[in-house]
Amino acid sequence: MRGLGARRWPLVGAIALAAIAAAPAVAQPPGPDDRSDRNLASGDHTADVRAAIEGGRAKNVILFIGDGMGDSEITIARNYARGAAGRLEMDRFPLTGAYTTYAVTKGDPSKPDYVTDSAASGTGWATGTKTYNGAISVDAFGNPVPTVLELAKRNGYRTGNVTTAEVEDATPAVLASHVVNRDCKGPDATSKTCPVNAKENGGAGSIAEQLVQTRPDVLLGGGKAFFDQKVKAGEFSGKTVLEQAAAAGYQTVTDTDGLRQARTDQPLLGLFAPNNMDLQWTGSPAKVGGTAPGICQPNAALPASQPKLADMTRKALQVLDRGRRDKGFFLQVEGASIDKQDHAANPCGQIGETVGFDDAIAVGVAFARTHGDTLVVVTADHGHTSQIIPNDGKSPGMTATLITKDGVPMTINYATNTPGASQEHTGTQVRIAGLGPQAANVVGVTDQTDLFYTMRRALGLR
Ligand code: MG
Ligand code: ZN
Repeated sequence: MRGLGARRWPLVGAIALAAIAAAPAVAQPPGPDDRSDRNLASGDHTADVRAAIEGGRAKNVILFIGDGMGDSEITIARNYARGAAGRLEMDRFPLTGAYTTYAVTKGDPSKPDYVTDSAASGTGWATGTKTYNGAISVDAFGNPVPTVLELAKRNGYRTGNVTTAEVEDATPAVLASHVVNRDCKGPDATSKTCPVNAKENGGAGSIAEQLVQTRPDVLLGGGKAFFDQKVKAGEFSGKTVLEQAAAAGYQTVTDTDGLRQARTDQPLLGLFAPNNMDLQWTGSPAKVGGTAPGICQPNAALPASQPKLADMTRKALQVLDRGRRDKGFFLQVEGASIDKQDHAANPCGQIGETVGFDDAIAVGVAFARTHGDTLVVVTADHGHTSQIIPNDGKSPGMTATLITKDGVPMTINYATNTPGASQEHTGTQVRIAGLGPQAANVVGVTDQTDLFYTMRRALGLR
């Protein structure tokens, strides 16, 4: 545990960018932080690892999901924002392993589908069940399976679900809804695409409706557009999903001020964008033949009314931990647009979201440091396309070159689809790291579905 979260790199986000812009293009001498990291890397870890192994029960579980955040995405963000010898917050976890992420074939779970999407992989970590791409917490035959959030709620824990995407997007959806196709975000699409789930056919409704029916104590992200659609049957027929949420006891906030002022003694619904929330950073997208070496900029179009993922995490922890002495909570926090900007071959977008996600992890680690009965897990749902290649490499795909914190060029390659098309997920195993009770179960090579059982064991869920 030594050094975990004990220091923060002083340069984050826009400040780091300004520093990079001002710095000469030479490697900077290591500061005290860099030296202590080096000592940690070269020293004997035995006592640290032994001290980090903690069995028994956790009061709280905080799960951080970096969507599409494979080892390559982590390394790219680290090189750019901290330097090759620097460390992100997520790199400081004492116990680390890898897990496999594959999906299975619809109707035949014995046949792997090696490249998963966020829906099948999310169903894996949220329910312990392998399923087909596109499935939201239903098995390979379309049957609903209970999720860790639902079980936590049933066992008396508070629950929270936070994302930078639409709250109806696959990753937050798998925790609190069950539909046969991830596109069934609101009542309108559900009628056509998931008739078996539609309210008017006797189903539980769209993802948005089911999120409200499951009713986590905190639900924060984008996706207001689907809450503005009208429920088609049942008690709330003709009303919007947002009105259904109000009837379920939610206070709704839509901007940073609202989030800050929201009560912590009432369920909290935050919908900060019609669809996905905006990006932290911008820069040149990758292109065939490469870009001139450049740096990333803060996204000038980012509305100040949108909270950052770290802000949402902080507020969620306030609501979930308020006045609790015995039972704790389960909280999921997703950095969603690492994946979306990887698809778009936009390295600065991707890196900015990874750094924003890492800032949220720092909030979770700080909470765990003062609440030692907290299991914190950081992982991804699947690998993605971006790769660091030699600066003089001849890629058939799209590349971009960035000047990193080290003051040297780094070339990033996107070549899992034809140039201009959406780049693809990959089938690689991904990192899983943890601290706190039961975190030893992330060590080694596990499968994504094992994470469900680790969290269930940590909270003693039945
Ligand atoms: Mg996602
Ligand atoms: Zn994706």
